[in-house]
Amino acid sequence: MKNAWKYVEGQILKIKSEWKKKIKLMKWEKFNKSKERPWGVKAKRCRRCGKMGRGIITKYGLYLCRQCFREVAEKLGFKKYGHEV
Ligand SMILES: [Zn+2]
Repeated sequence: MKNAWKYVEGQILKIKSEWKKKIKLMKWEKFNKSKERPWGVKAKRCRRCGKMGRGIITKYGLYLCRQCFREVAEKLGFKKYGHEV
């Protein structure tokens, strides 16, 4: 009988530790998942690389992040104006 109880206790401990891991994961997801918001800066998304957050150009319906815009701008017909002409 004693062995049986030990086995049961072991199983319970196993389940408990698994649950703890699960809860940890859930908490991690809760705080680290990128939240989808219908408003604000983070609602915008780059349609080329999928980057969210700051630095996204929505003017003229571009919806590109500034990094992608730099690469694609010339193909779209934008011209560079600066000290280098
Ligand atoms: Zn991008």
